[in-house]
Amino acid sequence: MNFKNKYEIVIIGGGIAGSSVAYHLAKLNKTDVTLLERHQLTSGTTWHAAGLIMQLRSTHTITQLAKYNVELYSTLESETGNSTGFKQNGTLGVARTKDRMHENKQMVSMAKSFNIEAEIISPSEAKEIYPSLNKSFIEGAIYIPKDGQTNPVDTTMSLISGAKKLGVSVHENMEVIDVKKQPDKSFTVFTKDGEINCEKLILACGLWTRDFAAKLGINVPLYPAEHFYVVTEPLKEATSDLPVLRDTDGHVYIKEDTGKFLVGAFEPWGKAISVEKLPKNIPFIELPEDWDHFELPYSKAMELLDPLNDVGISKFFNGPESFTPDLLFTLGEAPEIQNCFISAGYNSEGIEFAAGAGRALAEWIVQGSPTMDLSSVDIARFHSFQNNRNYLHDRTPEILGLHYKPHWPHYQKETSRGVRKSILHDQWDKLGASFGEAMGWERPMWFSQNGDSTNNIYSHTHPNWFKATAVECKAARESAIVIDQSSFGKHLIQGTDSFSFLQRTCSSNIDVSVGKIIYTHMLNHNGGIETDITVNRRSEKEFLIISSATMQPRDLYWIKNSIRENEEVVVTDVTSSFTVLSLQGPRSRDILAKLTTVDLSNDSFPFATSQEIEIAYATVIANRLTYIGELGWELFIPTEFAPDVFDNLLMAGKEFDLKPAGYHALEHLRSERAYREYELDLTPEDTPLEAGLGFTVAWDKPEGFIGLEALLKQKEEGLLKKRLVCFRLKDPKAVLWHEEKIYRNDKIVGYVSSGAYSFNFECSVALGYVKSNKGINMDFVETGNWEIESAGVRYKAEASLKPFYDPNGDKIKG
Ligand SMILES: Cc1cc2nc3c(=O)[nH]c(=O)nc-3n(C[C@H](O)[C@H](O)[C@H](O)COP(=O)(O)OP(=O)(O)OC[C@H]3O[C@@H](n4cnc5c(N)ncnc54)[C@H](O)[C@@H]3O)c2cc1C
Repeated sequence: MNFKNKYEIVIIGGGIAGSSVAYHLAKLNKTDVTLLERHQLTSGTTWHAAGLIMQLRSTHTITQLAKYNVELYSTLESETGNSTGFKQNGTLGVARTKDRMHENKQMVSMAKSFNIEAEIISPSEAKEIYPSLNKSFIEGAIYIPKDGQTNPVDTTMSLISGAKKLGVSVHENMEVIDVKKQPDKSFTVFTKDGEINCEKLILACGLWTRDFAAKLGINVPLYPAEHFYVVTEPLKEATSDLPVLRDTDGHVYIKEDTGKFLVGAFEPWGKAISVEKLPKNIPFIELPEDWDHFELPYSKAMELLDPLNDVGISKFFNGPESFTPDLLFTLGEAPEIQNCFISAGYNSEGIEFAAGAGRALAEWIVQGSPTMDLSSVDIARFHSFQNNRNYLHDRTPEILGLHYKPHWPHYQKETSRGVRKSILHDQWDKLGASFGEAMGWERPMWFSQNGDSTNNIYSHTHPNWFKATAVECKAARESAIVIDQSSFGKHLIQGTDSFSFLQRTCSSNIDVSVGKIIYTHMLNHNGGIETDITVNRRSEKEFLIISSATMQPRDLYWIKNSIRENEEVVVTDVTSSFTVLSLQGPRSRDILAKLTTVDLSNDSFPFATSQEIEIAYATVIANRLTYIGELGWELFIPTEFAPDVFDNLLMAGKEFDLKPAGYHALEHLRSERAYREYELDLTPEDTPLEAGLGFTVAWDKPEGFIGLEALLKQKEEGLLKKRLVCFRLKDPKAVLWHEEKIYRNDKIVGYVSSGAYSFNFECSVALGYVKSNKGINMDFVETGNWEIESAGVRYKAEASLKPFYDPNGDKIKG
């Protein structure tokens, strides 16, 4: 045996992901680390990557992770002495349509906040940069001069060399056959040459991570797809100074490769292939050619570059790569097992992301928690059903294609649908629902008018559902709407220590009378918001916690992992037990009064309280809450009783013009009222004070709570340097979604975290964090000259610390 039998950290997998985390751990002085690779380094997927490096992504968070690639790969060689093959020849992203040009303009806007050079150029300017380009097919292009390409094998070996120089050991031909968790929380790693004990384990096994992690009971939803490129014969037009050409509308990318062109594809529908069908335990896997499948993207490439029509192919390459259900990679501590970390599922972007992901994971391991907002890539975001083989197999072909499909706002995936349905699904269907998917749930998004089609027609400005959504929003403000919110995550917290546990972990005071509902957060030690929940006190020691559908898995893990060993707290997922109908609007009380004898007046049933009431033959938990800023109740109905309650509700609502409404209406309405949404307006990097939610913080709770110290410090520091601000555009035509730049007095000070068109105000509204070293107060907000840039155009905006709709919350009080 040529290794020690004990290391602090063992990394399994010697591709770019494992190598990058090894390098970054070493840079943070963690060197009691060994990396085990069953064959040769890079022999999994890394060796055959095309090596394209792009810094800009469609969101700020992901761009923050991506852009470090150029920084690292351009300096690595000088540090390690091992060449990486990195060259900064730029990206030329051509657009064949006006919609794609719109996206390119949005990316240029985004580039400004990261100081990444990027510009929109005309077809003629694109041709100057790329002489063999057939400019007649394009509307224009985005040019990002500091992007580039790298040699994936050399880059990995350079990372390994850097790690080794600092003391990390690396073992090739060392397959990990099994792994066991020990009672003392360490791991035993079994190889043919012996066992290793370690405190921390990192699984970076590429597409094999799903099956390997299953040995430890960890869910890592990823699935392989075939990924293709061809390399041409040499041709004079393939000069080494050419940028990487991306033709997303044509589903192809083209890079110069030693005097040849490498033409790769993200075709509209990929080819999923199960791990079982791949050659077993073989390095450097190559899969068969498939010209039929490659024909569409290659024909598009030939359209764009004339020389491709006259050159032969020297190599058709087809290799497997893993894809996740949401096109984002999986990183972080496995929520099921402490001290086991995952870095996998790179969706054909592992070379681009390995630098940022490796650094982020190393920091997480060393510091004990993430050092930046990683919630969108956090392994804990997945629900266990998403690891279902059939679900993954059906979803994967679409995911591969999504890379190059237009990034439509509120795009609905077409595959793996119908996974989770409300018991009212068919009733909604009859009412004309157009369904959308969240965490597997089919949810009404909008309701067609007069029997029109329920199909979505996407747009960056006016999607076809706007007309229907406007009607639903009007009803919400003038009469009443009912929305199916069964997809809420619902967790029952019970046990002797349930109260003290929640007091310790929630930032609000949970010491309230039974029947009271509290809007609160669980914070990390930096005061950042980890969960955005309501807590309904059902009895002395029983609490019902409600999460959003998308955050349910992460919230559940956060709650479970916050319970101390000596605490008696039982957490039960009761999501499926209740169907939730949210009855909202000024006439909601009148409608509910027709169904119950309970006094619904403000005195007897005040805001943020809960009562069990009878409706039809059911006993329903009625919570007086709203997420749209109106009088309203969320009715938690035992699932099998819900169809009958729903019929009764619709009947009672007829005379009050009750309308069914969908999640689009909810989004527009909550944006008008500036209600925050987790993952958009709230993240682990934002404190309740910065988010304008200081009213939820119980500063004087006797025993304190997790995150209090950080909040106190922030309070003592005086004016906040970052704050969520509400915006309303003056131009009625512009439509905001998210990520648009915010300017104050001509200076970029933030970006939109969520935006929506307000049918009430007939203009767009938005929320966004604004930063200023001088601190942000009312004066700062009121005296600024505010503008929001969308797709290259700056629009004048009003700014306010209070919502524009019903700023004092009078409507809620009903
Ligand atoms: C055709 C093609 C083109 C691509 N082009 C690009 C591109 O231009 N840009 C980009 O960013 N990405 C690209 N990619 C994607 C990129 O190659 C991958 O995302 C990346 O290589 C994944 O790295 P990894 O370390 O996660 O996985 P891998 O490279 O597969 O490494 C995992 C390693 O774990 C080892 N292993 C597994 N099980 C065990 C075990 N039990 N014991 C020990 N070792 C084990 C494997 O042998 C393997 O070496 C491309 C992929 C393909 C297929």
